[in-house]
Amino acid sequence: MPATDPNAVPVTSGADPSAPVLKFEDVLKKFGDHTVLDGLNFSVGKGERVTLIGPSGSGKTTILRLVMTLEHLTGGFIYLDGEPLTHEMRGGKRVERKKKDVARLTTKIGMVFQQFNLFPNMSVLENLTEAPIHVLGKSRAEAEERARELLDHVGLGDKVDEHPTRLSGGQQQRVAIARALAMDPEVLLLDEVTSALDPELVGEVLNVLRTIAETTDITMLLVTHEMQFAQEVSHRVLMFDQGHIIEDKPPAQMFSNPENERTQAFLKAVL
Ligand code: ADP
Repeated sequence: MPATDPNAVPVTSGADPSAPVLKFEDVLKKFGDHTVLDGLNFSVGKGERVTLIGPSGSGKTTILRLVMTLEHLTGGFIYLDGEPLTHEMRGGKRVERKKKDVARLTTKIGMVFQQFNLFPNMSVLENLTEAPIHVLGKSRAEAEERARELLDHVGLGDKVDEHPTRLSGGQQQRVAIARALAMDPEVLLLDEVTSALDPELVGEVLNVLRTIAETTDITMLLVTHEMQFAQEVSHRVLMFDQGHIIEDKPPAQMFSNPENERTQAFLKAVL
């Protein structure tokens, strides 16, 4: 990518890989007898934007869902800010953490899904204020002020009273991004957030994400098939294959000079 690319997000954020916000330690995930992740180890530093790429079925979405505690961790540990997320060692044994500890930690994580997952029976504004009021205990006035600010930020300040079903897919996804940010998360998980959109709506969502990457130091872990976008916004790209990281590099190197044969074949097929 030329240095003059107008869409490029300069890698100038406060990324600090030496202070991991997320750490995966010997992570094992099975669905029944099917082992999806087998002894996975990697960290994401504070402010880092890390993109997971790789063939379909290699376990990328499962990683995000494990962080969001939407899947049960079969083995190993995930740490958030140095604290074990769902499991910890106690008395020499690996045990589950208390629900209230897990719930406290998950408020620090925001996730945006492929299918938006907005609450269809609530207005756009209510979608953004529901969790800040009921989970964080914010006052309605405070939650609404922040929600309006975020909706302006994603270009939807005029849609506060609209119902999500009346919005385009791109607009719904921008609401979903604003909703995740309304919890002021430390980590934002983005799971193929443009995959369900008509091609002409992809750009507006990616532009919103570019702006967030440019204007905040929020840590991001993303799965995307938008390789150009991954190249622009990521500090690191991890190539997955069959539940293992087979290459971990800054995007310029990953995309121009992949070393692993399977990375080369994958990129050849998708670029
Ligand atoms: P990717 O995001 O890389 O496409 P996924 O994490 O979605 O991969 O899936 C990894 C593997 O786990 C696939 O083989 C998939 O079929 C399997 N898998 C994912 N979710 C479930 C589930 N709820 N039940 C059973 N198997 C699952």
